[in-house]
Amino acid sequence: MPNFDIVIIGSGAGGGTMARELAGTGAKILIVERGGFIPQEDHNWNPSSVWKDLRYRTTETWLDERGNEFRPYTHYCVGGNTKFWGTVMYRLRPEDFNEMEHADGVSPAWPIDYRTLAPYYERAERMYEVHGQHGIDPTDPPRGPYPFPPVPHSRVVGEIVERLKAQGLHPSPLPLGVRENCIFCNTCNSFPCKIHAKSDADVCGVRPATQTPNVTLWINATARKLITDPSGRTIEAVEIERAGKTETVSAPLVIVSCGAVNSAALLLRSASSTHPDGLANSSGLVGKRYMAHLATMMQGFHPLRKNDTVFQKTVAINDFYLKGPHTRYPLGQIQSQGRTHGVMAQTVVPSVPVWAYDAWVARGVDWLAMTEDLPRLDNKVIVERDGRIRLHYTPNNVIAHRQLVNETKKILRKLGYWIVMTHSHRSKNTTHQCGTLVFGDDPRQSVLDTYCKTHDVDNLYVVDASFFPSSAAVNPGLTIIAQAIRVADHIKTSRT
Ligand SMILES: Cc1cc2nc3c(=O)[nH]c(=O)nc-3n(C[C@H](O)[C@H](O)[C@H](O)COP(=O)(O)OP(=O)(O)OC[C@H]3O[C@@H](n4cnc5c(N)ncnc54)[C@H](O)[C@@H]3O)c2cc1C
Ligand code: SF4
Repeated sequence: MPNFDIVIIGSGAGGGTMARELAGTGAKILIVERGGFIPQEDHNWNPSSVWKDLRYRTTETWLDERGNEFRPYTHYCVGGNTKFWGTVMYRLRPEDFNEMEHADGVSPAWPIDYRTLAPYYERAERMYEVHGQHGIDPTDPPRGPYPFPPVPHSRVVGEIVERLKAQGLHPSPLPLGVRENCIFCNTCNSFPCKIHAKSDADVCGVRPATQTPNVTLWINATARKLITDPSGRTIEAVEIERAGKTETVSAPLVIVSCGAVNSAALLLRSASSTHPDGLANSSGLVGKRYMAHLATMMQGFHPLRKNDTVFQKTVAINDFYLKGPHTRYPLGQIQSQGRTHGVMAQTVVPSVPVWAYDAWVARGVDWLAMTEDLPRLDNKVIVERDGRIRLHYTPNNVIAHRQLVNETKKILRKLGYWIVMTHSHRSKNTTHQCGTLVFGDDPRQSVLDTYCKTHDVDNLYVVDASFFPSSAAVNPGLTIIAQAIRVADHIKTSRT
């Protein structure tokens, strides 16, 4: 059985960052990644390949609460879902770390506060080359300047920003992780970057890590089970399926980062006589409290206004993040989105010809309205007898989200758009999955401690989005990365 000092399972936002942070320690590290590298090819930027053929999406299917199959919006590859992300890299707001009342219940407090994570956010922003401008967004946390200036608005978005200000709103630049060679094309969000200009966990995490000789990467290698010693307190071996064979590796430290759904599934599949309900599940919370954000794509359309913007995702409106215009409770965030392509729109109603959609989207401006999803015990990941993933999920906080969508419609109509279209993946939106292995101080109320080590197993950490006690309403990536850096520091200190 091959021996390593550290095994990292999964190479996305959490795992890729962790690998880079630990590479310099000289520890013998194995990264186990179930996917391969995304090739740099023309398909990367082809809307038809990405949206019609779903070239890069997993072909795996999960079951929903009714037992119906669906193909989750998730990607198995080096860098994980960050290869496809829109690179929006927000810090959580200080209020997100506190208990907060929402329309549909209470968003629980985190066991750490904003100040604890702030220095790691700073390092995360440097590692992922985040561009932004502080001091404009009314919800900005206390912070210094971004490492890079904001991405400039296009002519059309610049005009919209001025007209939003005239409505009394406070539009602010979206913080974006892009590298020096970015050409600001119109195929960024949901597409892989053909020229590796996107700050993703492959480019910013795994590749730099594997340049050190002590780091080994196994691709197309799926961790199937974690095996403990007879006491159940230590992982002794990781069972991995690679090239049609099952092999086991061992290491004194195992770091799981398969994404919130797959990490919970791995722990549940690793049930044994010492952990009969799933590994590290003495709290009964493994897989529970799944959250995913309520998200609605919106498009303002004006038949006489052609939108010549190429890179559109540069502005956010956070005026309703902490409370709505007529409510005490938070509604969420509004962001401009990447340009919609005719082929993408056609996936919603395939009977309409693509030329008609192309003409339509050329006259539209795209937005995303996003609301916090609250943790519920019955929103959960289950593993079926045959090992398949089943996701029980009913969206909550729906009233607040509807109000946010209505407010966004009002804003867009005031901007002069004749028609506002909306579209939502509803309960099948797994892109912002989080919360399935909550972190906390109390082993009865949480699976992980505040450094993301499982309460029940001494050498097992989980550093992906599963530790989130609440989902907040900003994109999760930067927080996953910042916490991974914090945990890496903690591991480095504990090893010396
Ligand atoms: C289209 C899209 C746009 C997005 N845009 C944004 C954005 O703009 N900003 C933002 O903050 N977030 C965005 N997100 C969400 C963001 O990508 C995720 O929150 C983030 O990648 C989650 O990080 P993670 O480490 O939890 O998991 P992932 O990044 O999903 O990584 C998990 C990794 O584990 C691997 N894996 C899974 N199971 C196993 C196993 N058993 N064995 C070995 N390997 C395994 C997977 O292949 C994958 O590489 C977007 C997501 C999508 C899909
Ligand atoms: S070139 Fe820039 S805008 Fe285009 S996909 Fe790459 S990172 Fe995104």
